[in-house]
Amino acid sequence: ASMREERIEKTKTVCTYCGVGCTFDVWTKDRKILKVEPQKDSPANGISSCIKGKFGWDYVNSEERLTQPLIRKDDHFVEVEWEEALTYVAKRFNEIKAEKGADALGFISSSKATNEESYLMQKLSRQIIGTNNVDNCSRYCQAPATKGLFRTVGHGGDSGSIDDIAEAEMVITIGSNTAESHPVLASRIKRSQKLFGQKLFVFDLRKHEMGQRADRFVQPKSGTDLVWLSAITKYIIDQGLENHTFIDKWVNGFDEYKESLNKFTLEYAEELTGISREELIEIATEIVNVERLAICWAMGVTQHQLGSDTSTAISNLLLITGNYMRNGTGAYPLRGHNNVQGCSDFGSMPNFFPGYEEVADEAVRKRYEKAWNAELPEAPGKDNHEMIKAIHEGELNSLFVIGEDTGIVDANINYVTAAFEKLDFFVVQDLFLTHTAQYADVILPAVPSLEKDGTFTNTERRIQRLYKALEPVGESKPDWVILQELANALGHDWSYFHPSEIMDESASLAPLFAGVSYDLLEGYNSLQWPVAADGTDTPLLFSDGFPFEDNKAKLYPLHYQLMYDTNDEYDLHVNNGRVLEHFHEGNMTFKSPGLLREMPTSFIEISPELAEERGIKEGAEIKLISEAGEATGIVHVTDRVSGKELYLPLNSNGKSAVNYLTDNRVDKDTNTPAYKEIAVKMEVIKKK
Ligand code: SF4
Repeated sequence: ASMREERIEKTKTVCTYCGVGCTFDVWTKDRKILKVEPQKDSPANGISSCIKGKFGWDYVNSEERLTQPLIRKDDHFVEVEWEEALTYVAKRFNEIKAEKGADALGFISSSKATNEESYLMQKLSRQIIGTNNVDNCSRYCQAPATKGLFRTVGHGGDSGSIDDIAEAEMVITIGSNTAESHPVLASRIKRSQKLFGQKLFVFDLRKHEMGQRADRFVQPKSGTDLVWLSAITKYIIDQGLENHTFIDKWVNGFDEYKESLNKFTLEYAEELTGISREELIEIATEIVNVERLAICWAMGVTQHQLGSDTSTAISNLLLITGNYMRNGTGAYPLRGHNNVQGCSDFGSMPNFFPGYEEVADEAVRKRYEKAWNAELPEAPGKDNHEMIKAIHEGELNSLFVIGEDTGIVDANINYVTAAFEKLDFFVVQDLFLTHTAQYADVILPAVPSLEKDGTFTNTERRIQRLYKALEPVGESKPDWVILQELANALGHDWSYFHPSEIMDESASLAPLFAGVSYDLLEGYNSLQWPVAADGTDTPLLFSDGFPFEDNKAKLYPLHYQLMYDTNDEYDLHVNNGRVLEHFHEGNMTFKSPGLLREMPTSFIEISPELAEERGIKEGAEIKLISEAGEATGIVHVTDRVSGKELYLPLNSNGKSAVNYLTDNRVDKDTNTPAYKEIAVKMEVIKKK
């Protein structure tokens, strides 16, 4: 090979965007990314990928990357050496801890960072600072799904693999814009539809691509999924069509649950959801007529005040119809960020150690205390929502955020950024000077996935390795290195030479990962948790029953009440979600010229009826006003939305950011913001 060719390198990596977890070979020459090539050995995607995975990498070479630690001096930032920055952070953490106690500090991990980095973040907060105030962005998306599954089946992850979704006889998606949010997974469903006539039922407010492809598309009224789910479950039981054999053998709590369904008659459901009785009966009948049903859901379900209960209703329906424990069946909350699953799995949660063991459980705590040689706090810490509230109340004075633009992605931007201003000390670790970083006292420059080793866990609980393809830019460092150096600046002696040693430590402590090792994860190999000590993994959860005492799942009784509605003044409902080409607040994808060309600006979708009523046209400029704030944007008239439903892509970090409109309402069980419950009024700025 010539010299020229010798400099071309091929490195295996895992996509940094959505939770499907596509893996690729990335071909690089110096810092240039020549191509990204999926491999047939890629477990989640084979030879497929989507536009983000294929073209969304050039942000790593953005001129805007942070290359040096920054400390605020008056109203501007000055570049400093690492030692100065870390000594300063350690000093301020120690001062605040000494003065106000460990619980005056809070930590937010990143679901774009690796499992090993999530592990170190929670270790730092628990072992060194002595607080359980550590959380991650699953609080913004899937915590309610995890809750609903924990209550009923005992594990918060997907029941099977993406292969199982593809093998199901029927797939139901609820509140999931699958084709844009999880594109490669959506193409598996499309292929199964074609190959063997897999039935697809889509429940959503908006007729997106999967809605158009569905065998049945249903538009329930916003926030009423719990009602139709419970009503069809009741109908199935009333008709004696439940799976008796499965329930007798594997399910507890049938009688009490059945009793709780009394209210959910077809009439009641028709009135609340807008789905006719006849259609509810048809849906129920088709569900019991299939052998293998998989239900996928996403933030259209979870980001409501009843998000956990609605997720529970999904699981109840699957239990009643016996759709667990077999291939092609089960519950599939579709994880958003590439590593939102892993970030929670590895312990960046206020109530759980890695592997979902309770911090309040003395035996578990003792195990960690021994390993970490520290006394650990017993009471669960504050979640993201509670931390922001505690800042406002003067109870939390220091916040350390890794790789999360909290000031854009948390609900109610005005409230969150007002909290930042009240902090005594604020550290942000990120790739860019984000909206959030602008409020920081210290900014630590981190590196993207292509510049480090580690593992990510996708939506199917699949742990996969990523390998370093590029050297860090400037003085930036991997999050795990920064955390280790900070721990040592705080007087400890962490000495991990490689992320594999961090994985070994967590495998030795958390039974869920007992047999995980980098050797078993070499190249395109992967492991789906739980992983037994001998390295056996678990593609299909629950094959020997459910992880409760008697090996049985639990039906969980639910109640419904209307939590939110539009009113005379705030008469429009804003739905929100992703577009294919961009990701979340856009901090990565807006810095990718390839993706920006495809989808340059943000827009607000309004229905033709509403456009007509308000006398506005395509391209008009409007302002939306909620009780919390206002956002402006350009109108796109489309029949994907109907009536008084609006749709705002959440991929915006400017003045059309949807979180200027969201408020402090949260899911009652997990404190996940009710992002989908926004009532607004509209003002026309320019009619066009
Ligand atoms: Fe990346 Fe998701 Fe696209 Fe796969 S489907 S390439 S994981 S964004």
